[in-house]
Amino acid sequence: MSRCSICECELDRHEIRTAFDDIYCDECFHENFNYCQRCDEVISRDRTLWDSDGNSYCSECYENLHDDDSPNNPPVYDSDRKLILELSRGWLSGKCNHKTLIKINTKDFLLQKIRDKIGLVESSLYIFGLQDREEYQISASPNIIDQVREFILLNNNELKVIEGIGCNRLGISYTLRKDNLDLVVNLIKQITKVKELIGGELCAV
Ligand SMILES: [Zn+2]
Ligand SMILES: [Zn+2]
Repeated sequence: MSRCSICECELDRHEIRTAFDDIYCDECFHENFNYCQRCDEVISRDRTLWDSDGNSYCSECYENLHDDDSPNNPPVYDSDRKLILELSRGWLSGKCNHKTLIKINTKDFLLQKIRDKIGLVESSLYIFGLQDREEYQISASPNIIDQVREFILLNNNELKVIEGIGCNRLGISYTLRKDNLDLVVNLIKQITKVKELIGGELCAV
C-alpha cells in the first residue's frame, strides 16, 4: 500500500497524485501544488504565479503570457528550416502560401518529434503536454473539441477528452505522446486540415 508523502494516509491506486517524484493524497496535493493553466506542468504553491483572473501559471508561461507563446530566444529546429525554405520558394515563384507549422511548448522533446512528423499544416494549432491523469488524456479548446471527440470515438474510445480554455489548443497526456505517436499525429492532421479553425490572433485566450 502506498502512503501520502505528507500526511502518510494510505492511498488507493486511483487517488495517487504525483509531483516531482513523490506521491500525495488529493488533499495534500491541492494544498501544496497547482497545475499551470498553460502547459499543465505541476508547480509548487509557493512558486505559482497568478493572473488577475485567478489562473495559475509556472514562471515561464507567466512571462510568455502576452507574448503569443513565443519564448525570448527560440531554438530553431529542422521543421522550422523546412518552413522557411518552403515560404521562400513560394515567394520567389509568386505563389501565396498560407501553410504553417503547429505551435508547441518547446520544453517537451516528445512534442518536437510530433511537430517534425506533422510538417506543414493548413491552420495552426498549439500543442502542449499534459501530465498523466486518470480523469482525462486529452484537453481540447471549445472550438475544436467536437472534431477531437469524433476522432477519438472512431479511433480509440477508451480515451477521455476534457474541454480546455482558449482556442486552437490541444493538450496530450505523457503516455499518449510516448506510446501512441501515430494516433496523436493522425488526430492533429485531421484537426489542422479543417478550414473553419479560427486564426490565432482573432481569439482571446
Ligand atoms: Zn496527504
Ligand atoms: Zn506553464
